[in-house]
Amino acid sequence: EVKKHGKNGYRYYSQELDKHLMDRIELEGELRKAIERRELLVYYQPQIRTEDSRMIGVEALVRWNHSSKGLMMPGSFIPIAEETGMIHEIGTWVLYEACRQMVEWHEHGGPLIPVSVNLSARQFHQANLVEYIEAVLAETGLEPKYLELEITESMMMDPIVSIDILNKLNMLGVRISLDDFGTGYSSLSYLKTFPIHKLKIDRSFISEITENDNDKAIVATIISMAHHLNLDVVAEGIETKDQLDILTHNQCKEIQGYFFSRPLSAHQVEKEFFVPLRF
Ligand code: C2E
Ligand code: MG
Ligand code: MG
Ligand code: MG
Repeated sequence: EVKKHGKNGYRYYSQELDKHLMDRIELEGELRKAIERRELLVYYQPQIRTEDSRMIGVEALVRWNHSSKGLMMPGSFIPIAEETGMIHEIGTWVLYEACRQMVEWHEHGGPLIPVSVNLSARQFHQANLVEYIEAVLAETGLEPKYLELEITESMMMDPIVSIDILNKLNMLGVRISLDDFGTGYSSLSYLKTFPIHKLKIDRSFISEITENDNDKAIVATIISMAHHLNLDVVAEGIETKDQLDILTHNQCKEIQGYFFSRPLSAHQVEKEFFVPLRF
């Protein structure tokens, strides 16, 4: 194909590639400065107890308020941060900010609620992970049991190493949840040996649950299995009442999704979920 277009065809392709590479290098440079420029933000998505529709926790989700591109979603910069190693700095900042916010809300008369923070693979395998989490908790004053770390099955390819890290995190007193559950490759036999507290059912099983009996069966089975293993379970990506009804019918006690709330800025959470307003 390339040959057919001759020299020009090749040059066109090469220019496209150059453009792509330059955009990427530019973005990388900007991301490097984003923290000190205070362009990173943490949004919080409420986690809801189905029984009474109350907010029982939040998931911290990073955003980048880019000077010209506007509010950027993690999918467009977390992979770059992962590749370059900037994820350590960004991840530590998100963790600190999220813990600090929980303490601030409580100090201002709001509820004391747990926060879930996503860890990337590189962070999970970082040598001083436990020490720096301990330091962030000490600095912010958040009790360890109010911090939940979200990891994914794909990070636990080496079960011996993973169990060692998980055990150390457990000794700290933080909670662990398995994010995007059902999409990775982990063997079910690990579930009984991994010291984790919660499964988060991936959104991909929820999106068609009202039409797709296979998805419905998988979700019902995950919920039941979690209960038998004494694990908490939360369903992600609930967008409609019909989806919620199916989850409730299958004894799912916690959900997260646009049906109740999108991820919000800290200020929006205060306005929409806290009474009375003292912020
Ligand atoms: P995740 O941890 O699985 O987070 C849930 C994602 O689903 C969020 O996307 C959230 O906005 C979205 N979501 C929640 N409810 C619904 C719904 O009802 N419908 C739909 N369509 N989407 C819903 P977001 O914020 O774009 O984050 C994407 C991913 O980026 C996260 O997936 C997580 O893996 C990663 N991420 C976000 N923040 C951080 C961070 O601070 N550190 C690291 N390492 N990764 C992060
Ligand atoms: Mg998550
Ligand atoms: Mg995730
Ligand atoms: Mg997820």
